Amino acid sequence: MVDEPKTIQTEQPSPEKRSLKRGDITAAAVVLVIVGFVAGVLLLGREEKPGIRVPDWIDQQIIGINGTGRRSTVLGTVNNIAVHYVGNPGTTAMQNRNYFNQPTTTVSSHFIVGLDGEIVQCVPLDEVSSATNHRNSDTISIEVCHPDTTGKFNEKTYRSLIRLCRWLCDEYGLEATDLIRHYDVTGKRCPLYYVEHPDAWDQLVQDVANYEE
Ligand SMILES: [Zn+2]
Repeated sequence: MVDEPKTIQTEQPSPEKRSLKRGDITAAAVVLVIVGFVAGVLLLGREEKPGIRVPDWIDQQIIGINGTGRRSTVLGTVNNIAVHYVGNPGTTAMQNRNYFNQPTTTVSSHFIVGLDGEIVQCVPLDEVSSATNHRNSDTISIEVCHPDTTGKFNEKTYRSLIRLCRWLCDEYGLEATDLIRHYDVTGKRCPLYYVEHPDAWDQLVQDVANYEE
């Protein structure tokens, strides 16, 4: 049931109220500008959440929300960057991205670094990916393509990976030593070459530490 509309009592403005002085109008305009500016800043701030602007050297090809690969679950504090290898020699970044995008796929990563050094983003940074088991909740994940079964990254791929890791460390206030391998989480031999060659992993971390744009 709705209330009967009531008769609106209109207040008769007194003569003083009606005659707005020029100064009052100027003051009102200034207040409006300030309010508008503050509102704009607040709105922009919300839009920017989590405050990270993805650079143009990253190709954003966000996959659909498909249940398990991308669940649209909010990612909280990021404590580590987890590096993986795709385990499927010779496949491209987009092939792996398209695999993640299938409704039946249950895995995903935030980024894939390809054989030509291209970087594809698959999952938004404010959502968890499905790559690193119980550490999905506080890590950004990177899958890396590789030309053969050794799992060693080629030169172009490696350079892009270092650049991506450096950028992520800077954005999240992490050190290069906060990079982890999937192996460090579950003991899975991933990324294979950098599990079998711990010195190569140490070098990778060092290269991220020393990287400059
Ligand atoms: Zn892995």
